[in-house]
Amino acid sequence: MLGPTRRWRSWSGLVEIVPTTVHAPATPADVVHAVREAITAGRRIKMVGSGHSFTDVALADDVMLDPAALSGIVAIDRDAHTVTALAGTRLRDLNAALTAAGLSLHNMGDIDAQTIAGAISTGTHGTGGIWSSLSAQVVGLELVTGTGELLRCTPEQHPEVLASARLGLGALGIITAVTLRVEPVFVLEAHEEVVGWDEALDSLDRLAAENHHVDGYWFPGTDRVQLKRNNRLAADVAERSPLPRWRELLEDELMANGAFGALTAVGARVPRLVPALNRFAASQLSARTYSDVPHRVFTAPRRVVFREMEYAVPRAVGGEVLREVRSLIERRGWRIGFPVEIRMTPADDIPLSASSGRDSTYLAFHTPRAADHTAYFAGVEEVLRAYDGRPHWGKLHSRTAADLAPAYPRWEEFATVREQVDPDRVFTNGYLRRVLGS
Ligand SMILES: Cc1cc2nc3c(=O)[nH]c(=O)nc-3n(C[C@H](O)[C@H](O)[C@H](O)COP(=O)(O)OP(=O)(O)OC[C@H]3O[C@@H](n4cnc5c(N)ncnc54)[C@H](O)[C@@H]3O)c2cc1C
Repeated sequence: MLGPTRRWRSWSGLVEIVPTTVHAPATPADVVHAVREAITAGRRIKMVGSGHSFTDVALADDVMLDPAALSGIVAIDRDAHTVTALAGTRLRDLNAALTAAGLSLHNMGDIDAQTIAGAISTGTHGTGGIWSSLSAQVVGLELVTGTGELLRCTPEQHPEVLASARLGLGALGIITAVTLRVEPVFVLEAHEEVVGWDEALDSLDRLAAENHHVDGYWFPGTDRVQLKRNNRLAADVAERSPLPRWRELLEDELMANGAFGALTAVGARVPRLVPALNRFAASQLSARTYSDVPHRVFTAPRRVVFREMEYAVPRAVGGEVLREVRSLIERRGWRIGFPVEIRMTPADDIPLSASSGRDSTYLAFHTPRAADHTAYFAGVEEVLRAYDGRPHWGKLHSRTAADLAPAYPRWEEFATVREQVDPDRVFTNGYLRRVLGS
């Protein structure tokens, strides 16, 4: 977020910068103008999203483009089943417009605060389905390249740029508009319950095969895993049974945010209480079943600020990796006051996707803002790397280009496109120099 003093601060508070110059383009033509001006002046330029990345991937320390005015739906094509929106449109606004038009995205992550371009640029994903990440649902986009050209990329025009720019880390240009595949709105039924650790881990493959979307939360220091299974119903939207408002307020606002925030704050201050607090938090979760339009089932408010690292490992080793992480946590005596999230995604064909070419299990590790995450994340990262894990680009990790390149079979495709669209590295920053090498 850009504050009144022009200081930009990310959601987690980990990244802060006062950019040299800020522009707020409202049209693709404004973006072309700003990029050409930056090129002529020999400066670097980046657009930020909503600042929900934990890494400094969005850090714009020279010319920053604020996305707020580059927002809105451009077109809905019912025959082609697509929606085109300006890059700075927030997912929550996109979802509202789609629901009103009787349409929906196929899948999404667990919040809706991000901009479309920001979300796809780091590979924001949900769990299950045919296309788990938003990037995999992109069928076209428009971007301004490092030579100041506005490129329309579709499967017919500049298909190689489209293939990489669906998840481009902000390295390939300033995206001005994105076209996503959509489908008629459907009803999703969520079933949530708490099960034992062994039962959850032993049934991961079966759960993924039998349900459209499976999400798990393990509370470290306990044997409890909260499982959320979302399945499509053959029902009309009018027949859905959402949670009553009072229950939503009590369970999702008061318990999952308010009370949970208080528990994590106590745990960060008095770490020896963490196991008891985790047992208490897990015991408060009751089984529930409800159904609603997709975005109201997939996403929920997240008001407790945390730190996060997330990795994708090959699907088949997901349970084994989690068991190894648990044993590491127990050996080191770490008291982790935040659940570990388990999601499963199908393989995709996107060069820099963590699921590129392989079915994956995503494991996400969190700590409350007030706790020190460094030893926990570093220790767990060693385990994840040993299993050929690939990091989420928007979440904390310590990888560099030298060790990332061999982990992605299509790495060179991305590098070739980058050479073509940003030969002078107009869009680079410190993060890109670390993970891409320039
Ligand atoms: C509470 C919370 C929940 C989250 N849940 C999930 C989840 O369920 N699944 C998941 O995968 N991730 C999740 N994330 C991570 C988040 O979705 C990603 O980090 C995402 O990239 C953030 O989007 P943003 O709009 O905030 O973009 P930013 O973080 O601001 O920017 C991300 C990148 O996009 C680039 N960018 C933005 N706009 C443009 C543009 N117009 N053209 C070119 N590049 C651009 C930026 O330069 C930067 O490189 C979560 C994060 C938080 C804080």
